[in-house]
Amino acid sequence: MPDSNASNQSDFQLPLYAGVDVGGTNIKVGVVDDLGKTVAHSKFPTPEKCSDGAFDRAAEMMDQFLEPHGFSREDVAAVGLGTPGPLDMKKGILTAPVNMPGWRNVPVRKMLAQSTGKSVTYANDAGAAAFGEYWVGGGKDYDSMALLTLGTGVGGGIIYQGMSIDGAQSFGSEVGHATIDTSANARTCNCGNRGHLEAYTSATGVVNRTAELLPDYPSSKLMDMVSETSALSALMVSNAADAGDELAIRIVDETAEYLARGITIVAHVVNPAAFVLGGAMNFGGAESKMGRRFLNETVSKVRSAVFPDVAKNLVVDFAQLGGDAGFIGAAGLARENHRSA
Ligand SMILES: [Zn+2]
Repeated sequence: MPDSNASNQSDFQLPLYAGVDVGGTNIKVGVVDDLGKTVAHSKFPTPEKCSDGAFDRAAEMMDQFLEPHGFSREDVAAVGLGTPGPLDMKKGILTAPVNMPGWRNVPVRKMLAQSTGKSVTYANDAGAAAFGEYWVGGGKDYDSMALLTLGTGVGGGIIYQGMSIDGAQSFGSEVGHATIDTSANARTCNCGNRGHLEAYTSATGVVNRTAELLPDYPSSKLMDMVSETSALSALMVSNAADAGDELAIRIVDETAEYLARGITIVAHVVNPAAFVLGGAMNFGGAESKMGRRFLNETVSKVRSAVFPDVAKNLVVDFAQLGGDAGFIGAAGLARENHRSA
């Protein structure tokens, strides 16, 4: 074995764990060490059907990550898998993923175990991402944490003292479907019900709310942005808000108000030590003025709605791991299982 590999090896703490994060567009595969440090990771387009060799390819990728560092598959103690729901975590079956018809009723846990020769821990993708943030990201300093992922939808994951709250039917922690509006004209959620957080604070929710108000703001910069060939997007709203647009700033503040209602529910039901916001729908995140305004507005609205002791200790911050949270967290959940076995 070359010397360079030996020195590489010493950078990582054995054993290693692999994480596979299946999404509608890509499958991300990564290997992390015992402290959650990433050895290597990559992704490939999600095949139409799981049976088209998706997990064999993931296993090959794993080996490719290990070899340059002088590791072999023997150094990998266990593998974690995250997929979108609905799923049956206990049986290890991906039941009815939206937009992935070729992946319905697939025994994904068993298939990945066969491809890798390792025991596989199966989780909801949002739960896996939450565990990643809890282990080595935005929640690493806390014993409990809720992750809300604002993207196309609103995902949720709650970790309590190292355990992911998955629930009896694998629908635990679905914060996106908490009811925040009970009025007669409450917005319809992607799930078909009304008044859910996702219908207001997902990228789609933000776009729909903006489109409805746009006629009242004829001088909004968004008018020019959409009249060109492109459709209204959450990123446009974010950019317009950065440029001082009145409507866009109103949308940022109202999104914070809606998000605060969702966080308030979780704060009173679970009372996690920290809330972490993931996903691309963050109005620029920590790096931008509007992102920070969105965060500050959210925090101040939650503070005014929760018990004083909760308000005093409230922590809400942006996530730190970005798109890597899923495979890191899946690997982390596999580590938890492996260590408690
Ligand atoms: Zn819903």
